[in-house]
Amino acid sequence: MAEFTHTIDGKAASSEKSFEVVNPATGNSFASCPDASRLQLEEAVNAARRAFAPWSALSFAERARAIGAFAKGLAVRVDEIGPVLTREQGKPLGQAKWEVGASAHEMEALCKMEIGPEIIREDGKHRVELVYHPLGVVGAITPWNFPIILACHKIAHGLYAGNTMVLKPSPYTPLATLMMGAVARDTLPPGVLNTIAGGNDLGGWITEHPSIARISFTGSVPTGKKVLASASGTLKRVTLELGGNDPAIVLDDADVDEIAPALFRGAFLNAGQICMAVKRVYAPEKLYEPLVDRLTKLANTHRVGDGMEPDVEMGPLQNKMQFEKVLAMIEDAKRHKVRITTGGHALNRPGYFIAPTIVADATDDMRLVQEEQFGPVLPLLKYRDVDDAIRRANDSRFGLCASVWTKNVKRGAEIARRIEAGTVWINHHVGSEADMPFGGFKESGFGRELGLLGLASYMEPQVIKVPLAA
Ligand code: NAD
Repeated sequence: MAEFTHTIDGKAASSEKSFEVVNPATGNSFASCPDASRLQLEEAVNAARRAFAPWSALSFAERARAIGAFAKGLAVRVDEIGPVLTREQGKPLGQAKWEVGASAHEMEALCKMEIGPEIIREDGKHRVELVYHPLGVVGAITPWNFPIILACHKIAHGLYAGNTMVLKPSPYTPLATLMMGAVARDTLPPGVLNTIAGGNDLGGWITEHPSIARISFTGSVPTGKKVLASASGTLKRVTLELGGNDPAIVLDDADVDEIAPALFRGAFLNAGQICMAVKRVYAPEKLYEPLVDRLTKLANTHRVGDGMEPDVEMGPLQNKMQFEKVLAMIEDAKRHKVRITTGGHALNRPGYFIAPTIVADATDDMRLVQEEQFGPVLPLLKYRDVDDAIRRANDSRFGLCASVWTKNVKRGAEIARRIEAGTVWINHHVGSEADMPFGGFKESGFGRELGLLGLASYMEPQVIKVPLAA
């Protein structure tokens, strides 16, 4: 395997220390990753500070062109980066390649938006203008489930707005991100995008750093709270994209055969390790057993295996801790006397594989319903009437996304407005689009990424009031 390096000030850099990266399909380490020192973080931040003045002086169109070149550089390396992403993350190769290619595509879409300046008022006496300024150096921190696409959302809008960046991937999945840094060396001015790998300590050093103006964080709720506390020391601007426990509410007019494949995909894609995956399903009495039956059949034919093998649809859990957490939630569910209609166990092979699991007769008090499982296990709950379903869907400290499944989309949209979640889909679940601001209610997040709201969050608004000659 090739040597992996940080990118600092447009140059490759290795570190004295390194750590091993494990392939979750085998449980064995397969590559070594440099572990950035505090001094290397200083070098990266200083490079980003030096790059800020010339980069922020460019127009949006000039920055869009440079980011477009970076995106193209990424797109032509899909076949190089994809297999590394599969080995470190576990997802099937086709999905890993999709992630890299879609990231390039989304970056281009994100750099087509325009923001300000705008005239707020012109009344004969004054002209009041609203203009936007970039913030400076952004510290971007990403998780292990979608390391490339989540980083690219931050890179696109962070850089397009005129900021420069220090990006730190998760220590579980650092390698594809470092390869992306190598693309930046060839396509962006030095220092504009620095990628450095390290452990959780490096994350803390970034969030407390006095020369970093903004943090864009994607990860779990407990870490998000630490990030917010740490960033408060220097009053950094912060967005937090955190965990979810998304409900899907099936209405009594839904066609079970029609909706089941999309519902299944929304729950089991990436082995359920998606912030906005379906994590609990609420179904009415009359559709409950047919839905359990249909989802069970889909789970039974879902092909699980090493993502490098052809035709695999679902890989392993990404790491041992997550694997054990999901198994513990299954054990907790068994104590609640649920019906596990398929799965409910680890696969008898090396690596962190769990069989796709359908849990019928789930109860509100189970861990699987209360917490974010982040794994291939789907609980189904029965509801009395729509009010009961909405109340229980909202009875959560999470509020990332949700969905309503119905033939009557108007009724679905009315119900959507009563759900406490940042995005509610009708007859769909999972996905991000460049023009749709993404983020959570309640503990699922703080602020928004994507869309114009996301772009604005990488900028500081300024009002200029000009007296007009009489
Ligand atoms: P995590 O919170 O454990 O780690 C995320 C990142 O934070 C990693 O890079 C980690 O090294 C870093 N980190 C850890 N401690 C830190 C600290 N004290 N200060 C600064 N950085 C620190 O999350 P994870 O387990 O990698 O990811 C899974 C979680 O991410 C799930 O809860 C999932 O729902 C969430 N997620 C949310 C979104 C979203 O857009 N809302 C998207 C993907 C994943």
